[in-house]
Amino acid sequence: MGLRIVNEANRCLQCKRPFCQQGCPAHTPIPEIIKLFKDNELLEAGRKLFENNPMSVICAIVCDHEAQCAGHCVLGRKGMAIPFYDIEEYISDAYLDRMTIEPVEKKNKKVAVIGAGPAGMTVAIKMASSGYDVTLFDENNEVGGMMRYGIPEFRLSKKILERYKKVMDKMGIKFRPNTTFGESLVIDELFRDGYSSVFVGTGVWRPKSLGLEGASLANVHFGLSYLANPDSYILGENVAIIGMGNVAMDVARTALRHGAKSVTLYARSKRIAASEHEMDYARLDGANFEFGMAIKRISEEGPVFDVAIFDEKDKVVGYEDVPVTVPADATILAVSQAPKSRLISTTNGLEGNERGLLVTDDSCMTTVPGVFAAGDVVHGSNTVVAAVDEAKRAAQAMIDYMENL
Ligand SMILES: Cc1cc2nc3c(=O)[nH]c(=O)nc-3n(C[C@H](O)[C@H](O)[C@H](O)COP(=O)(O)OP(=O)(O)OC[C@H]3O[C@@H](n4cnc5c(N)ncnc54)[C@H](O)[C@@H]3O)c2cc1C
Repeated sequence: MGLRIVNEANRCLQCKRPFCQQGCPAHTPIPEIIKLFKDNELLEAGRKLFENNPMSVICAIVCDHEAQCAGHCVLGRKGMAIPFYDIEEYISDAYLDRMTIEPVEKKNKKVAVIGAGPAGMTVAIKMASSGYDVTLFDENNEVGGMMRYGIPEFRLSKKILERYKKVMDKMGIKFRPNTTFGESLVIDELFRDGYSSVFVGTGVWRPKSLGLEGASLANVHFGLSYLANPDSYILGENVAIIGMGNVAMDVARTALRHGAKSVTLYARSKRIAASEHEMDYARLDGANFEFGMAIKRISEEGPVFDVAIFDEKDKVVGYEDVPVTVPADATILAVSQAPKSRLISTTNGLEGNERGLLVTDDSCMTTVPGVFAAGDVVHGSNTVVAAVDEAKRAAQAMIDYMENL
């Protein structure tokens, strides 16, 4: 990797108007980082990357680079774009274990962060670096959110998250695992206990069942639950997956690595939610795709579909008269996910929209003064980098809010 990325860095044109940087949702200063890297300033490059995006090493692995940095590189117009993400991974991976954590002046104010996904981790890191006393709560037993319990190990090693946990510990961030807000503890109690502001980054963890007949049968599972712990499931050899988004691709690739012999994904139309490269990888791993199959119900024998009739523009114009049952040992629903409603129902004044997502203003403040939110719980299922970018704005807004208290 070392020599190859040096060669790649040497190809960078150091554009005055870096489109790569514009294409990055975290606005990573790509030419500057590449220059530092070439000047043997590895740790300074790492520091800048971490400061701009504390999840840099993870984004280098899981971002949709073809749509972002690499997709905007001018060299890609006529030849090969620079794979900045490989350079970023090298730098940020080295920096994560070697960073020095400087002492900061204490603000003597407590901040609660609910949810240890990328949004919550970013806020916790930003607030701790600014001198706030941070407690990070999560209902799961480890940090990472969907980066740990959604994205499969073969795409993102969970060892990286262990390293983050150590970094956060060194920064003085206190972690309270297995602590669910909206149950034994509620947000209002945080203010009682002396926290000056609260961040909510609880994501979207309620898989949608579509209200399908048969959804409670023993051979039916939710994709999100399956990905959190695939070893607990005995799916059988023949697996049907309902949905063709990125989560469905991860489910398919995981099932194929856990003993399934035949995995088929079914979509209602020919419009696919997954990114092209995620679908290519699933195909490479051996997944099959069936289009025009609208799920009607699920039986003990397998899913039952209405079969679509397409017009010449691939638009669904109707369905065949007789539904078909596709034999499958297990059917996994991977259609989409929504937030759980516990926080809204237990917090005075906290408002959600019609999808149950938290309502926030331009400064990421919810409808409760002092309670801020960002990431999937505000926008629905999105990306790590989008959660980080918004969480950075939320952290700054929390600082401004507390300075005016
Ligand atoms: C299978 C899958 C694959 C994905 N692949 C990619 C990818 O390749 N690239 C990419 O950029 N993005 C990917 N994503 C999306 C990305 O992971 C999410 O957009 C991102 O993690 C959202 O960050 P977040 O911090 O808002 O929420 P989350 O990561 O969901 O974290 C929320 C945290 O809050 C905790 N929590 C929830 N409710 C409570 C509560 N009441 N009390 C306490 N804690 C609570 C949860 O346990 C969790 O740790 C994928 C998502 C999935 C599901």
